[in-house]
Amino acid sequence: MSQQMEFQTEAKQLLHLMIHSLYSHREVFLRELISNASDALDKLRFEALTNPQLASGSEPAIRVKLDKEAKTVTISDNGIGMTREEVIDNIGTIARSGSKAFLEKMTGDQKADSNLIGQFGVGFYSVFMVAASVKVITKKAGDGAAAVMWESCGESTYTLGDAEKDGHGTDVIISLKDEEAVYAENWQARSLIKKYSDFIAFPIYLPNDKGEEEVVNQTKPLWRRAAAEVTEEQYEEFYQQALGGYGKTLSTLHTNAEGVLEYSSIIFIPATAGFDLFSNERKHGVKLYVKRVFIMDNCKELLPEYLRFVRGVVDSEDLPLNVSREILQQNAVIERISKALVSRILGKLKDLAENEPQVFKEFWKNFGPVLKEGLHTDFENREKLLELIRFQSSMGESADDLVSLKQYVDRMREGQKDIYYITGESREIVEKSPHLEVFKAKSIEVLYLVDPIDEWIVVDIYNYNDKQLKPVNKGGLDLGELGRDEAEKQVKAQTELTGFSGRIKEILSDVVEDVRVTGRLKDSPACLVAGEHAMGAHFEKIMKAMGQEVPATKRILEINADHAIIRNMNARFEKDANAPELAEWTMLLYDGALIAEGHMVSDPLAYSKRVNNMLAKISEAG
Ligand code: ADP
Repeated sequence: MSQQMEFQTEAKQLLHLMIHSLYSHREVFLRELISNASDALDKLRFEALTNPQLASGSEPAIRVKLDKEAKTVTISDNGIGMTREEVIDNIGTIARSGSKAFLEKMTGDQKADSNLIGQFGVGFYSVFMVAASVKVITKKAGDGAAAVMWESCGESTYTLGDAEKDGHGTDVIISLKDEEAVYAENWQARSLIKKYSDFIAFPIYLPNDKGEEEVVNQTKPLWRRAAAEVTEEQYEEFYQQALGGYGKTLSTLHTNAEGVLEYSSIIFIPATAGFDLFSNERKHGVKLYVKRVFIMDNCKELLPEYLRFVRGVVDSEDLPLNVSREILQQNAVIERISKALVSRILGKLKDLAENEPQVFKEFWKNFGPVLKEGLHTDFENREKLLELIRFQSSMGESADDLVSLKQYVDRMREGQKDIYYITGESREIVEKSPHLEVFKAKSIEVLYLVDPIDEWIVVDIYNYNDKQLKPVNKGGLDLGELGRDEAEKQVKAQTELTGFSGRIKEILSDVVEDVRVTGRLKDSPACLVAGEHAMGAHFEKIMKAMGQEVPATKRILEINADHAIIRNMNARFEKDANAPELAEWTMLLYDGALIAEGHMVSDPLAYSKRVNNMLAKISEAG
């Protein structure tokens, strides 16, 4: 019985794109189908561990057959196969959310887009770049499964029907378009398999000119080979095809460990971030194999979350073949391999930071915010992570100039005790903050913490090299030696302005906790600071954005006793403590302080009325 079915809408869209946009890299269809066949063999081998009757007896292999006359290419595997429902689900639909993301990510740049194919797992459809029609005949491994036939020209429908098939597994029979007949040529297929699929761990058979079947690939998995035997191109193919890597890599760490622990691993540090760096549905990560048997994709037990940008494979000799998720979670072997991997990765990053700063900068731009999470979660590697993290700072000319904590400390001014930082939404906002005035005047460097995660990790860092991290906009400012002049002046001015600041505090009693004379300002009349133990304003904003209840905290208004506005206001206060314009000016002073730190004024309408009134008065006088 056969029936005609419609592709799901997204699948149609994707097919359309495949056929009409990606024409420059059509050859990749072969590697996609071979990779699917290899996955199907892996899955069967894995299932057979717990269900031995599934084991097929025949050698797991991939066979490619060509027919020049008929212009067909057939790719067969004796892997897990599919049931009728699985065919509908896997090939008629795009199940994963990743495929939608793929459609959104298409850039129109053909090379980049064809790279995306593997990463988003939409590989099968790539066959329609070269096929006039495709027939799939598949039979699920296990007793009693019926063979199914699927056929389509890649337009909007496909046909499903019954089929005859001897063993389990899948045949994909491609009828090439006339202009793509070259893919049925032996030399062409051979060179494509060599180029793209040499690392596949199962034999790929192709008949030679005499019609005898021959294994074309190396079959020894790439990770089991010695690093010296593997070329750059092979690593790159493996990274992109087998591990879903995107773009280039910055570094490849290939280990064949012997001794207490026996395992092989290849770890790639990518140069560009994948689309799923901040998604919970990550498919790729580090693949786990045991004695060459595929166990799982993205084995989360092998690497901490903060290294989730890494791609790779680990093949252990010491784990039992029937490992389960539960076993993995507290397994001593996994733990030790994980430790070794983390240590190698961090070591490599340190090496890049020291010897190839440009490369490290590129790394940091893409993955810095992710790596910083480690300060919160990986106490054991705290020291190493502290050497790796970078910040923007007031000494940098642009967002590109980054500083490490070590550099900061090395170039601290003599007599400076603490490490100063300011948090905020962006460099543009923090660098204009009035809180930096005294630091600029005294050439004291201030770190700009402008990643949302910085608010959290600054608490984790707390202190570096016996220097405490101090926010420039919280609590009283103590510059020690460097601020002696300001401190003396401040004490004097505070006494002189006691009455005045008391009056201002009264006027602003709803919104501020206290009013005091400051040492941090040079050009601005006033600024707001958080109490020593209060949440900073930026942190409050982040918490609110995350939908958290934030207790209302009042801040402290600090005034600059040297500023003309403050002096004049004080003069008015001494003449008449209750002068009505004093209240107006005070409100403007407060709103001005809010604006200066990138916040909204409390009541925009009232604010603009006040400004207008004042303008009216000034223009009258003029
Ligand atoms: P991906 O391989 O990235 O999941 P594809 O579009 O290439 O995406 O394949 C979709 C799904 O179809 C696969 O996940 C798999 O379940 C199924 N499939 C494809 N080819 C085969 C095959 N040769 N044997 C068994 N299942 C297959």
